[in-house]
Amino acid sequence: MKTRKARVQAVGRPPAFAYRDGELHCERTALSALAKKFGTPLYLYSQNTIRERYRTFDEAFRGVPHTICYSVKANSNLSLLKMLAGMGCGFDVVSGGELLRVLKAAGGAPSFRPGLAEGGRSAKKVVFSGVGKTADELDLALKSEILMFNVESEQELALLGARATELKREARIALRVNPDVAARTHPYISTGLHKHKFGVPMQVARAIYAAASYHPWLDVAGISVHIGSQITDVKPFGEAMERVADLVRDLRGDGHHVRYVDAGGGLGINYEHGDLSEFPNLAGKYAKLVTNALRGLDVHLLLEPGRSIVGPAGALVTRVLYNKRNNGKRFVVVDAAMNDLIRPALYGAYHEIVPVVEPEASKSETCDVVGPICETGDFFARDRKLPCVSDGDLLAILDAGAYGMSISSNYNTRGRAAEVLVDGKKAKLVRKRESFEDMVRNETV
Ligand code: PLP
Repeated sequence: MKTRKARVQAVGRPPAFAYRDGELHCERTALSALAKKFGTPLYLYSQNTIRERYRTFDEAFRGVPHTICYSVKANSNLSLLKMLAGMGCGFDVVSGGELLRVLKAAGGAPSFRPGLAEGGRSAKKVVFSGVGKTADELDLALKSEILMFNVESEQELALLGARATELKREARIALRVNPDVAARTHPYISTGLHKHKFGVPMQVARAIYAAASYHPWLDVAGISVHIGSQITDVKPFGEAMERVADLVRDLRGDGHHVRYVDAGGGLGINYEHGDLSEFPNLAGKYAKLVTNALRGLDVHLLLEPGRSIVGPAGALVTRVLYNKRNNGKRFVVVDAAMNDLIRPALYGAYHEIVPVVEPEASKSETCDVVGPICETGDFFARDRKLPCVSDGDLLAILDAGAYGMSISSNYNTRGRAAEVLVDGKKAKLVRKRESFEDMVRNETV
């Protein structure tokens, strides 16, 4: 079984997760100590890895005016948002709830200046995406003076125009266009084809922009695009951007003052082998394709990365409950389940799983790692060769920082896991484990 030891040591900078003295650590903190203190299942995030990945991504675009709007859906913990805002990061939100999270976590940061009429916060670095924004959500975003509404339909545009008129607030808009570019990823997270529900077809975009430009409270400011998630072959990003660049030229020809291009998110990570060393290279290639396509257009670029910033920075720590055999097949039953991390069940996604105590390479066996939930889909690994573990041992499910906790649920009335942010030898509880009372608070008997 391969461990991350060689890889992270080779990189020579603070890794998120590495074995030290025979035990897996997050930065400088032993996972066993954290599991003892906070219990399992437990989400751990390496603060310095998030910071470093944000800087790497930012650095890749240093040659062009840009704003990184971290995609809150990937991991929406308030402490993470606050930390990113403190580094100058903006945010991509897809609901009123996410916008409220951003305002709560980052309201004090310079780009979220107080001083609006209702004592609210000005969210100058927030873009709002999503196909089904409600009137209440649009109102909240208008009052928060967000940077951009990424509008996904004519119907939404009409509602936004009406709400902006009513509230007497100007809305900067970008139409999310559907470039009809295929991204090689799981079909559930590919979004840039005609058959998908997202955005408007390129061919009709000009007419919608024309209609919007007559509205007194709508400012036609940009174009947005997002072709999918977990994309590691970066070519489709370039293709999509070429199409967007053509549209920028067309729209300017039509007299629109297009200043922003939002390239969306979607850059993937290497779940199979970890990507600590290859990220700067991949981010660089991605940035080159995106910026080359827009060369000479003098636009401000918006970027909405999620997974690539937080994915490898997180792990889900779980304890082995039972080793069982059914007809010779080995099952390792752990205390985490699909309600904690649904990616394997939802997409058949792969996550590397390693024991917290460094294993001896010789003793391994093929097994399924499964959770306690009453679904056959409740698994973290199938037919995986793993070191032999005993009941009570700890395992770490790696690369779980994105789309882990944020998609978690209370299925089977299981409280959500605790979350801990690690900074060197310091560990901060950033979300308490959910109790039974937390789960039933809004119910009546
Ligand atoms: N922007 C939009 C509009 C999205 O739908 C998503 C996720 O699917 C993202 C950004 C973030 O994508 P990723 O986490 O793959 O970078």
